[in-house]
Order: sequence, then structure tokens, then C-alpha cells
Amino acid sequence: MIRRLPVYLLLDCSESMAGPPLDAVENGVVTMLAALRKNPYAMETVYMSLITFDAKARVNVPLSEIPSIVAPRLSVRPGTSLGAAINLLHESLKNDIVKTTAGQKGDFRPLVFILTDGQPTDEWQSAVARLREASPRLANIYGIGCGDEVDFTTLSRIADVCIHMRGLSTESFAQFFVWMSASVQSMSVAPDEKISLEKFPLQEGMELVDSANPPPLSERGQRLYFHVCCRETKKHYLMRYRYEPAFRFYLAQDGIPLADDFFSDGAMKAPAVSSDMLHGAVDCPYCQASNWAQCGFCKHLFCISEDFDEPSLVCPVCETHLTGGRGGAFGVEGSMG
Ligand SMILES: [Zn+2]
Ligand SMILES: [Zn+2]
Repeated sequence: MIRRLPVYLLLDCSESMAGPPLDAVENGVVTMLAALRKNPYAMETVYMSLITFDAKARVNVPLSEIPSIVAPRLSVRPGTSLGAAINLLHESLKNDIVKTTAGQKGDFRPLVFILTDGQPTDEWQSAVARLREASPRLANIYGIGCGDEVDFTTLSRIADVCIHMRGLSTESFAQFFVWMSASVQSMSVAPDEKISLEKFPLQEGMELVDSANPPPLSERGQRLYFHVCCRETKKHYLMRYRYEPAFRFYLAQDGIPLADDFFSDGAMKAPAVSSDMLHGAVDCPYCQASNWAQCGFCKHLFCISEDFDEPSLVCPVCETHLTGGRGGAFGVEGSMG
């Protein structure tokens, strides 16, 4: 029996990944699988599993041989349940991995890559403690934090090695997957457990994080996410605001269409923020209406054109007739991704 090199990818699919980053990750998985299929060593030894996490964690692809894996479609949902993802990883490791016994050589020590761009919204400490207690070590864990909102203090307690990928651009993700494919392929030729992947030359824009001294979480970059319903199409989109410390308010960033199966249960609610803290608006990605309003009854947000002059509006969510009450600040509930 061949000794397998199990590789687990834990992918953050929270709201903060919406749009180009998640598309780039989806493409990255496709490119990685294609690269591994071309490499005879990798084809033989590498087995891969994909775990995604948002409000929940799920095994999208159980540990499988490379030729049989179909890259999954990823969709964004609220929440960053890193603790749940770690528990699921732990379960998978316990069930999947063939141990070395007197009679047989078991699997090589698995490689785990955790790709996240935010901070956990669930309790992760006990999950990490349980995983860490296992002896011998169950896996070599690499934490890849992307963007400027990553909590490296948390990530460096989970991962053996942390890498900071600064950009969230399609290009940055593409380079990351090139790096990961190359290092996994090198490992598949000589899966020496003592080799550390971070010794493989990092791509531009990636740097090693000093776990003893992780960079502090910056105040800049904090984001708020709001779910908005389009009045024309009744479809939902995500409206993102970013905190600007210099101005002490949130500035509108973009509006991203949400999948139909998007649900907001389990989202970590951010404390209601006063509407006068929110500056600017983004166009509805469906009907291009340039502003938004809040239903006084169900409190849902919906898109509205700047120059609406209808005497009565109908909330697209609860269908209440609303008389346009403009002016005055009000509290808006968002989520923290
Ligand atoms: Zn609209
Ligand atoms: Zn309503």
C-alpha cells in the first residue's frame, strides 16, 4: 500500500470574502488540482480534503485521491466559525489517517492550510486546545491570513506557521495557490515530515509572520456588512462599509450579489450602528438604485433610488406599506462577517 500525503484545505467563506476573493479561491482550487494531476508523484501520493466555514463548518470534499475530486462551487454566508472548522478537521484527521503500526507504514503527517481573512466569530479556544493536545502531532498546520483584518494572535495559536498574504486581489490568491501547489508537489516527491513548507520560496506579497510577535489588529479596515433586499428583483445583496479612523465613520465600499441559498441565521450580529455613522451608499447590483432605506416594521434594508417620490413604498421583505419617513438618524443592524 502506498503511503499517502493527506492535504486539508480549510477555506473561509464568510461575508468578508464575498466577491473577487472567493471567486479567486474557487479558481485557485481548480488550478491547484490541475497542477497536481500533471505531476505523477503528486497523483500517486497526495489526497485532498476541502472544509469550508462560515456560520457553520462543512466537509465539502472528504479526503479523496486527486483524480476523483471535482472542485466545488463556493458561496458566501455570514460568520467565521473557525472553532467549528477546527473540530471538523480534528474529526476528519481521526477518521481518515492511517496510523503507522508494527505491520505497516501509515500515512505521512497531513498538511493543513487554513485560509482566512478575518477573526473567528465562535468559540475556538477549546477546539484548538483539543487538537493541540494530541500526541504525536496530528498535522502540520499552516495559517494563511489574507488582507488587513486578520487576527494573527488567534491564527498563530492555531497554526504552526503563519503566513501573511497582504492583498485580496485575484492575482494575490492566484500566486498563493501557485505557491501551495508547488510546495505540496515538492513534498509529494520526498514527504519528509521535518521539511517545513515555509522554506519554499514565498511568492511576492506573502511574508512569514513572527508567531512570538504577531502584528496587532489594525483599527483601519474594520468592516460592517448589511443585507439589503432589492425592491425590483427581491434578490439580496451584501453592502459593505469600512471604518475610516481619521473621519470616525464608516464609508460605503461595494455591493455584492448574494447567492439565493444565502441565509443569515447564525450571523454574529454587530451592535446596531447609527445611520449617521454610515457615509455614502453603493448602487444596488441588480437595479442600480443608488441608495437604501430601512423598513420601520421588519427592520430589513432595501434598495431605493435617490429621487423616489412615491407617497407610499412597499417593503419587499414584509410587504408593509410605508410612508416615506426621511430624516433623523436610526439604528442599523449589520454583521461582522
Ligand atoms: Zn435594487
Ligand atoms: Zn419590512
